[in-house]
Amino acid sequence: MSERVVVAGAVCHRGRLLAARRSAPEELAGRWELPGGKLEPGEEPEDALVRELREELGVVARPVERIPGRWTLKPGYVLEVWTVRLLSGDPLPLEDHDELRWLGPDEAYTVDWLDQDRPAVAEVVRRLREA
Ligand code: C5P
Repeated sequence: MSERVVVAGAVCHRGRLLAARRSAPEELAGRWELPGGKLEPGEEPEDALVRELREELGVVARPVERIPGRWTLKPGYVLEVWTVRLLSGDPLPLEDHDELRWLGPDEAYTVDWLDQDRPAVAEVVRRLREA
């Protein structure tokens, strides 16, 4: 069986990273993630990410750079993460999330990130500190 790819975006704006709190499923609700979701059949990762961020947050966004690495979620699913720039819109928790927060590097660990998102978050925070 081939792996299914989940794409997520590290949306960065004015030196801060966007964190999204999941509202479902029950075992993940209340924990924080980089917003994103599963690729649809035949879809390119960057296109899936643009679609997911439009659906979930109501924004137009552009993937900028892939964060090196891929992380196993449940068996058969892997997470890939891109840094993302906002082109237009103000993110709102339209779907899958019930709260959003912009976190500067010193606040980045004030939320309970999903375990599988943590390596990518750490890399993005490192980059924000350097910027
Ligand atoms: O958002 P969606 O339900 O499509 O995500 C598919 C799977 O990917 C879920 O199991 C979710 O936990 C996982 N995921 C993740 N980290 C993210 C986004 C999604 O582990 N940043």
